[in-house]
Amino acid sequence: MIKLHDKVFKPYLGEEQILAAVKKMAVQIAADYKDEVPIFVGVLNGAFMFVSDFLKAYPHPCQVSFVRLSSYQGLTSTGIVESLLDVPENIEGRSVIILEDVIDTGRTLKQLVHLFSGTNVKEFKIASLFYKSEVYNGEYSIDYVGLEIPDDFIVGYGLDYNELGRNLRGVYQLNQASMINLVLFGKPGAGKGTQAGVLKDKYNLKHISTGDVFRYNIKNGTALGILAKSYIDRGDLVPDEVTINMLKDEVEKNPEAAGFIFDGFPRTAAQAEALDNFLESRNMHVNATIALEADDDVLVARLLERGKESGRSDDQDEGKIRNRFDEYNEKTAPLKAYYEKQGKFHSVNGIGEITDITSRLAEVIDALG
Ligand code: AMP
Repeated sequence: MIKLHDKVFKPYLGEEQILAAVKKMAVQIAADYKDEVPIFVGVLNGAFMFVSDFLKAYPHPCQVSFVRLSSYQGLTSTGIVESLLDVPENIEGRSVIILEDVIDTGRTLKQLVHLFSGTNVKEFKIASLFYKSEVYNGEYSIDYVGLEIPDDFIVGYGLDYNELGRNLRGVYQLNQASMINLVLFGKPGAGKGTQAGVLKDKYNLKHISTGDVFRYNIKNGTALGILAKSYIDRGDLVPDEVTINMLKDEVEKNPEAAGFIFDGFPRTAAQAEALDNFLESRNMHVNATIALEADDDVLVARLLERGKESGRSDDQDEGKIRNRFDEYNEKTAPLKAYYEKQGKFHSVNGIGEITDITSRLAEVIDALG
């Protein structure tokens, strides 16, 4: 295990495995380009080790050059790709083979293709040492691949986490075992959002509130917002498929998270099963589901009070509030048994001072080990 900044990484690929993949690519490309002198273009910074080992393994005359793009900030792709080091000169009529360290969504690749689009090269090929085929959604085909890897965050062999880890000879993977994933369970008004806000700082977790994401989308008039609005305004649940896909997107947007607090999700059996399957596919799991318990009458009073301040349409009308309780009793309450069966269900008294309730939740979380 190694620690870079605040995160722990575990060994994933050894030096020999990587060099074997590099060699395989060099042999493959050499067979295709033995009759000409290709120009290899390494993509900085991540590809410097790959380029070096690749060239050592390449048996014929060749040229090398570099471009530099910038797309990563920390662990998440920001989507901003700028060119910091331009295409090499005199490449017209030549075969250019891009050497990339890793291709994930394909956003950087798109920019690369764009960068070379007006250059009149003879051939333009892409070779990537690592390829996350699961998440790749670009149109461009990858011509040479060293190793296909799952969508886990990796460092080493040129790849970094906030600039550290590039010098490692092997590749390391973010250790998910230390993750804590919590489901906060409870009726509307039980204090899930408030407590999630406190717990996320205390345990360095990412808070995902499906209600907040819906409201954000409604405010911004997105297609998702327009779709969800009619359900939310009535106090009904948004259809599972829509909500599940949205939740997955939110998790995927945060590959660096040390864990998640799911607030307001799952609310149906289908959502609970989808969450388990999705997390499992990522080597993750729900560690605990904690219910905040409070009487309906207390909750109605709390929600009406909240509705006055927030202007939330679903918090201003007792009928809609009661409808949300009915939805909860019918569709969400049965999840208690689902999580009890997994030995993950915990119940906490949700009445009292905010700090006292946080202490009750922390007691459960700290006991998870
Ligand atoms: P909340 O802020 O969690 O009370 O959510 C407000 C509203 O958003 C709910 O009444 C539902 O209409 C919708 N919503 C939030 N989370 C979900 C979910 N997991 N499944 C379906 N609908 C949801």
